[in-house]
Amino acid sequence: MLTIDGSQGEGGGQILRTSLALALVTGQPFLLENIRAGRPKPGLARQHLTCVEAAMAIGQAEAIGAMLGSTTLEFWPGTVTPGDYRFAVGSAGSATLVLQTVLPPLLTAQGITTLTLEGGTHNPLAPPFDFLALSFAPMIRRLGPKLDLELRRPGFFPAGGGQFQARIEPVTQLTPIAVLERGDIRQRCARVIASRLPENVARRELVVIRERLGFQDDECAVEAVTNSPGPGNAVIIKADAEHVTGVFSGFGDRGRLPEQVALEAVEMASAWLEAGVPVDEHLADQLLIPMALAGGGSFRTTEPSLHSTTNASIIRKFLPVEITFEPESEKVWRVVVRRAGEAN
Ligand code: ATP
Repeated sequence: MLTIDGSQGEGGGQILRTSLALALVTGQPFLLENIRAGRPKPGLARQHLTCVEAAMAIGQAEAIGAMLGSTTLEFWPGTVTPGDYRFAVGSAGSATLVLQTVLPPLLTAQGITTLTLEGGTHNPLAPPFDFLALSFAPMIRRLGPKLDLELRRPGFFPAGGGQFQARIEPVTQLTPIAVLERGDIRQRCARVIASRLPENVARRELVVIRERLGFQDDECAVEAVTNSPGPGNAVIIKADAEHVTGVFSGFGDRGRLPEQVALEAVEMASAWLEAGVPVDEHLADQLLIPMALAGGGSFRTTEPSLHSTTNASIIRKFLPVEITFEPESEKVWRVVVRRAGEAN
């Protein structure tokens, strides 16, 4: 059995999610210790426990230590079984990260899977639904499988209660891809999603976006949400480039000024625009597993995050791949995934 130290690198939830996903793909059981030791409240939180339960259901797996707060997990994968599943985080924990956990084995499963996922869909420190649907899913489709996502209702911290559906049509073998160029920006827009909030929140956020990014009125929109259980706010900036779509977000929270929420999204978008790379910081760490499963791939991105390098070292434990991060200039890095032992 593979023993993994959950305190290494970033010491966060990704070590668990990557281990679950790749255990299901490879059939390799693992023992994960020191789960989320790098976080203020270590151990399995609701979101992480739902990821474990989802992986157990999809992979007919068995586990020891699958309970809230657990800092150790033994996981024994079985057969990956496509079908119709529903997983609910039961809090505002991120439902999109539950998808990220079970998606890899389903990309090459024996049949179509539909997932109904419930919980937070627009959470800080997790991919918002819009990012998955507009930036991540098109990349997955380039690798071969079909991935269609549909938002039923958004869920925000702390009420949660969001819901989305995913339909995954697998392939036998993923195709390696190279994402090296971004191309010209063809279209851009900013959307403020607001649930049960005063009108001036969206207005103040859009002022920042117009001032900082020079967006015109017809590039800005407000989406007033009426079907989410609680209040919530997200700013989503989307840029459609020739070869990739960038999605950058900021999230509202109690005591957080609307201007700060908008600036969070603006700064991420600006870093990507200035670097001229196709893959932003977050897409970078999320492309590593699919590329490793394809047995190769490469992309240009900004300086790799600790999240990316930690993810790469967990992937290497399960799969015979090498993942290299090389700077090409001050702001541009090239990430290459190749089979272990394959020449450069
Ligand atoms: P922990 O509570 O231990 O931090 P976690 O499970 O909540 O763990 P992380 O391990 O920090 O989360 O992983 C967060 C994931 O969400 C990463 O893949 C990261 O790229 C992604 N992510 C965070 N913010 C965004 C964003 N704004 N847009 C897209 N993806 C994001």
